[in-house]
Amino acid sequence: MYWLSQLISRPGSKRTVKGRRVKGVELKNDVAIATMRQASRIVATVLQEIAQRVEPGMTTADLDAYAEARIRELGATPSFKGYHGFPSSICVCLNDEVVHGIPRRRKVIRAGDVLKVDTGACFDGWHGDSCITVPVGPVSDAAQHLIKTAEAALYAGIAQVKAGNSLMDIAGAIEDVALAAEFSIVENYVGHGVGRNLHEPPSVFNFRTRQLPNLKLEAGMTLAIEPILNAGSKHTRTLSDRWTVVTLDRSLSAQFEHTVLVTETGHEILTDRNHLDNTSSLQN
Ligand code: MG
Ligand code: MG
Repeated sequence: MYWLSQLISRPGSKRTVKGRRVKGVELKNDVAIATMRQASRIVATVLQEIAQRVEPGMTTADLDAYAEARIRELGATPSFKGYHGFPSSICVCLNDEVVHGIPRRRKVIRAGDVLKVDTGACFDGWHGDSCITVPVGPVSDAAQHLIKTAEAALYAGIAQVKAGNSLMDIAGAIEDVALAAEFSIVENYVGHGVGRNLHEPPSVFNFRTRQLPNLKLEAGMTLAIEPILNAGSKHTRTLSDRWTVVTLDRSLSAQFEHTVLVTETGHEILTDRNHLDNTSSLQN
C-alpha cells in the first residue's frame, strides 16, 4: 500500500538514520539485511498459509485475525496495524477492489472471488512487505489470465533488479508485460523502498514515466515492487470508508508484491514463498 500523492509531496524521510544513503535511499548493511530477511520470511509464511487455508465462507476479518496471530506468534508485529490509522494487519481486496481494503466481519469470501491479501511484518525494527492474489476455488478464465499476468509482470520487473540498472528498467519491464496482455496499470499507487520504515524512498513505479525520479540501483537497496493490473480502465476511486480503493468501471484488479534486495549481481527476493520449509526455524 502506498499513495502516489504522498510520495510526491514527501519525497524523503526527514529522520536521521544510519547507513549510507544515495539520493535519500538507505543502503542496508549486512545486519539490516539479515533482519529484513527474517521480517520478510514471516510475511511470506503468513501469506502462504493464508493462500493454503482460504476457502469460501470465511470472512475477510477471519483472514486478518489469522494473519495478526501468526505474525505475532512468529516474533514480529503487524506493520500495517495503526499505520496512518489503518485498523488491521492485512489489506484485503476482492474482485474490483484494488488496494487498502479493510477486513470486515460481514464480508464473506465466495467461490470464484479474486482475493488479494497484502501484509507487512516488522521484526526487530525492520519491515518486509508482500502481496498475493489468490483465486478462491475455480475462477473465470479472464480472472485467471489477469492473475497470471499480474504475477508475470512482477517477476519481469524483478528480473531487472541489479546494481547498475534503474527504476525505469523495472517499470518498463512491468509495463511491457501488462500492455502486451491488454491490461491497464493502476498509476495512482506504486511501489516503494522498504526497511526501517514500511514506506521510504524511492518510489518504484510500474510504468514508464518522467513524473517520478529515476534512480540507478545500488547493492543494499531494498524495494517493494507491487504492480496492480486492471482488466478494464486504470482509473480508480476511494469508497466512503476512506480506505478501500475500487476500479472506477468495477472491472477486476490483481496485484502481486515482493520485497527485493538489490545485489551486485542481481537480486534476492526476501519475501519469496518458494523455499519456505520449517517455520520453526524462522528465528534461527
Ligand atoms: Mg508495499
Ligand atoms: Mg504491501
